[in-house]
Order: sequence, then structure tokens, then C-alpha cells
Amino acid sequence: MKQLKKALAAVLAALTMVCCVSLCLCAFAEGDGDHAHDYKPVQVLAPTCTQPGLTRYICDCGDVDEWRDEEIPATGHNWGYWKTVKEATEEQEGLKERTCLNDPTHKDYKKIDKLEPDAIGGFLQKIIARIKAFFAKIMDFLYRD
Ligand SMILES: [Zn+2]
Ligand SMILES: [Zn+2]
Repeated sequence: MKQLKKALAAVLAALTMVCCVSLCLCAFAEGDGDHAHDYKPVQVLAPTCTQPGLTRYICDCGDVDEWRDEEIPATGHNWGYWKTVKEATEEQEGLKERTCLNDPTHKDYKKIDKLEPDAIGGFLQKIIARIKAFFAKIMDFLYRD
């Protein structure tokens, strides 16, 4: 009986050893990249006015979940106010310019139409001339003997 007990004890000890070793191996394997990845969003490329950016999901181990890559839409220009660069004249078109607040190398231009050759002024002058003529007639009429 004693021998049998000894044998059983030895077997149990051996089994325990095997269990321990396999558990240790499992734990070790898990620590070596076979873990459940924990992907966190990282902005790897910032969007610009015209170019989209990129968000990737990256685990601390460096693994990238490429299926979840997300494009960040381009921000678009952030235009400031129009500034007149060149005033328009009756002979020449003028020029307006505005600058992007995100990047001052981004510029936008717009033509300013030539000035009408004093259209409104001419129109008013005609009316005034007519009114004057009208009053002149009345005055002429009133003061005529
Ligand atoms: Zn990972
Ligand atoms: Zn811009």
C-alpha cells in the first residue's frame, strides 16, 4: 500500500508540474502578442484645407486595425475678409484678394468690374437739368407780364 501511495503521489506531483508549466507557457504566450488587441483611435495625419487626414486604430503593441481606418474630411479654406488690392477705374478692372486663415499661402482673387462711366451721375444730372428747366418755365410764366 505504501508503494502505491508513493506512486500516486509521484503521479500527482508530475501532473501538477505539467499543469504549472502549461499555465506558465500560456501566460507567457499571451504576453507575447497573442493578446486581445485594444485599438485606440490615433490621428496619424492631420487634415488640411484641401487634403483629408487619417485616423487609425492602433494597439499599444503597434498592431493596426486597417479595416477601421477613418478618413478625416479636409477642413476647407477659412477665408478672411476681401481686401481691395487694386481699385477699379473706368478703364481698368480692379482686384480683390482674400487670404486663408489656416495657411497664408492660400489666396483667392476676384475681379472688380470696371466703373460704369458715371452712369448714375449722368442720370441725376439729366433729371436736375430737366427740373431746372421746368422751374425756369414756371418762373418765366409767373413773372411774365
Ligand atoms: Zn495588441
Ligand atoms: Zn486654406
